[in-house]
Amino acid sequence: MHTLDTTIRIVWLTLRFESVQESTLDVTPLGSVSHLAVRPDVESQYRKVKMKITGVSSTLFQYPMPRRMGDANSPMGRARASGCIIELHTDTELTGISMGGGGAIGIINSLVEGVLIGQDPRRVTGLWQRMVNKHFKGGHDGIANDAISALDIALWDLKAKSNDEPLWKTLGGVKQPINAYASGLDMPLSDEEIFDFYRGMAEDYGFKDGKLKVGLDQDSDLRRIGIMKDALSINTDEPGLMVDANEYWSPKQAIRKVREMEEQFDLMWIEEPARRWDFLGLRRICDAVKTPVCAGENLDTLGDFLPYFHNRSADIIQVGSGMTGITCALQIADAAHGFNLPVTLGGSAGHHHAHLATVIPNYVTIEVGNAESENRVASIDITFENGKAILGDKPGLGIEIDHEELAKAQVDAIPPGAGPSPFGRRPGAGLYEVPPTEEEKVEAVRGITGQSEGRHAY
Ligand SMILES: [Mg+2]
Repeated sequence: MHTLDTTIRIVWLTLRFESVQESTLDVTPLGSVSHLAVRPDVESQYRKVKMKITGVSSTLFQYPMPRRMGDANSPMGRARASGCIIELHTDTELTGISMGGGGAIGIINSLVEGVLIGQDPRRVTGLWQRMVNKHFKGGHDGIANDAISALDIALWDLKAKSNDEPLWKTLGGVKQPINAYASGLDMPLSDEEIFDFYRGMAEDYGFKDGKLKVGLDQDSDLRRIGIMKDALSINTDEPGLMVDANEYWSPKQAIRKVREMEEQFDLMWIEEPARRWDFLGLRRICDAVKTPVCAGENLDTLGDFLPYFHNRSADIIQVGSGMTGITCALQIADAAHGFNLPVTLGGSAGHHHAHLATVIPNYVTIEVGNAESENRVASIDITFENGKAILGDKPGLGIEIDHEELAKAQVDAIPPGAGPSPFGRRPGAGLYEVPPTEEEKVEAVRGITGQSEGRHAY
């Protein structure tokens, strides 16, 4: 943690940095100092080139997923997914792109109209603060958080593009292979499909670590962890094994089940073993099992994490893709670093978390559900080799939109079964054991077969 003297020095440096620029902003959070590389050549270019935000467009689309995906709360999973392309326009040829915020288009339009229009998009951190301040009364979580996140990511994309460099470089990162793990989101998959997914990720991209969805049936979970381990063992004698309960258990259920798993497996972490806000329950789990507890995926803001930090409610802090954007994700990672807690980065559209990992000293690994783009709409400049993300050199996030394909996949509204959480929380979760229903058992046997329309089919 910063001492008072250090904090004062950082504030002074921040003010000094702002004072040499033409600025219409009056607020610059401390985060800007630690994550912006200020180079003389960029500074001179910055003064010469004018840039203003002129508007935003949002396009909803849907596509068939390469496999059914679900967790303990939605064991049958879903076969279709939806997305949203946000394009933040400027008075230059540059456009900022982000993917997400499909349910928050109204607030996105309002924020652009009320906060961003006419502003220089390169002042990302200050604009982020203004958007957050705009939502002070209602809180910048939920849909407001989704909107700010989508715009913040597009602003960072623009800032890096204006530097004509990839985002990792604008953030001040050093290009390096980024630790990654395969994540099947695999509760709906049969045993054979579990094996095929993790073996494919191991053979094709060199993954050595994997994360399995658990929580519904302990016997099945134990068997499937073994299958995942077997599939990943092609690359290593000791694959990294993670399990994710998606808040399905009570703290007592979690302690009992994880202790049983520990009799057979050495787990890297247990993710979200109890409700996100139950920081004392999570602390009890941390103290009762040997496996590190990973939590935070569904929190929104830095303030949401404070009970975790103060109560040691997690051994590993998970930063999700919608945590009020890249700006806030880096603030949370810095705060976790101050508490000597490691950070893992959840799955993100376009794998933009790989860029962030280059400037997070306490990052452990990032989540990868699919190593290739899930749809034809967007291509990304990140590949996977030897189980690591390899960053590219295209400007910004390196996301390129195929507008012809986007038009084919476009929808007017997100269909009920293709949203991010179409099933909600399973009744009885955390309260009592709910065995799989007959319908769910049938679906589990059927697995992917006959359900997915295949990769890239519309
Ligand atoms: Mg998770």
